[in-house]
Amino acid sequence: MSKVKLYACALMVLVGACWSPALRAGDGPIEINGLKFESWSEYTQSDYFRSNGKRCGFNAPEEEKDPFQESGDCPLYSTNPTAEYDPGDILTLQVVVHVLARKTGEGAVPDSLIHSQIDILNEDFLAIAGSNGEDGTYGGIQFVLASDDPDGNPTNGITRHSKYLWFLDAENYWDPLAWDPNRYINIYTNLASGYLGYVPWLPQNSPVGSNEDRIVVLHSAFGRNAPIGPPYDQGRTLTHEMGHYLGLWHTFDFGCGSDSLPTCYTSGDRICDTESEASNHFGCPVSSATCDTPDPIRNYMNYTDDLCMWEFTTEQVRRMRCTTEEYRGDLVDVATSVSGGSSGSSAGVFPVRAALHLENLPNPFNPVTEIRYRIPEAGPVRLDLFSPSGRLVRTLVNGVRNGGDHAIRWDGSDNAGLPVASGVYFSRLQAGGETITKRMALVR
Ligand SMILES: [Zn+2]
Repeated sequence: MSKVKLYACALMVLVGACWSPALRAGDGPIEINGLKFESWSEYTQSDYFRSNGKRCGFNAPEEEKDPFQESGDCPLYSTNPTAEYDPGDILTLQVVVHVLARKTGEGAVPDSLIHSQIDILNEDFLAIAGSNGEDGTYGGIQFVLASDDPDGNPTNGITRHSKYLWFLDAENYWDPLAWDPNRYINIYTNLASGYLGYVPWLPQNSPVGSNEDRIVVLHSAFGRNAPIGPPYDQGRTLTHEMGHYLGLWHTFDFGCGSDSLPTCYTSGDRICDTESEASNHFGCPVSSATCDTPDPIRNYMNYTDDLCMWEFTTEQVRRMRCTTEEYRGDLVDVATSVSGGSSGSSAGVFPVRAALHLENLPNPFNPVTEIRYRIPEAGPVRLDLFSPSGRLVRTLVNGVRNGGDHAIRWDGSDNAGLPVASGVYFSRLQAGGETITKRMALVR
């Protein structure tokens, strides 16, 4: 072992992880904590990766404080997710990505992957139709690479550095590199101490705005079709870590907690509309129930495969927007944030197709469900339900509606008033020249 490697290892023992670096660039053999793996792919499929929870390096504290001693609507150990935190103004948050690579070029994430990763964040936080994030909940939070650096000079929002120890996630690289963490989300890519990603803390439990305030992501798991390969190559590592950065616990943190109101806001993950969960889930399970109710295996704050997770819940969105307001208010770029909810065209970077929103609750349902939709402005609206074969089952809305949020019940009957059979149906919303379609499951 070379002197440099020994030094790196000694440093990392101090932070609890002794990382020997990749032996060569690309998808070659790697060594982690003395264990050898033929490839990143083999590593992420290993028992070691799963049993040590290496998908994310954020750990909930073992001791909980009394949530009733806290104040505010979204402190560390409780949530008061009132509707006042529902998406109204679009919050625009500035990002700077610091790429920490080796001189050999290993870890030098290209600009194209960085841009695609920012796109993925927006798809997931805005539930953009037609993207992998479309089945999620509209969060009204968008991310842009910074266009001005801390000195006011133009920038592409990306900084690049070649230093071996920083690539190893060693040394306090944030001290020389961080851009004012009150104003910018500082994201670093490197070996991330053997995790796919991590944040050091939740903003409720930390010196927000210190140089250490950051998100770290494994360089090969950054961006769309990232080099690490399936199942962690679709950019959901950063979506998950951004959830922490904006105040969310894992869905499984603190175990089952309580499922009943209101104690579910002061136990488990402090959110009531994520079902209780005893432990994390890897892979892509069809269903699971570790606490008597269906586990939130599709939630971004779980550990499932990138393409098996696709939602923040309504209350998680409220907790994140509350956290942004109460703990990270200076991040919000006033110049580019827009008011008026989903009509974001004035932001310039905000896709108009995100303007429509459509969901039904509950789903699956028997036999009644409420279909909620949002349109950006007043105008003709049509909401139809179809069978999987494309047969029109029911027209629920066909007329002019005001801009904003609407809801309508469906009792499981067709246009003739007859009950339809169990199965999958599609709701289709058309307004303002845009169309959005969602799946629903009727289980009689
Ligand atoms: Zn996590």
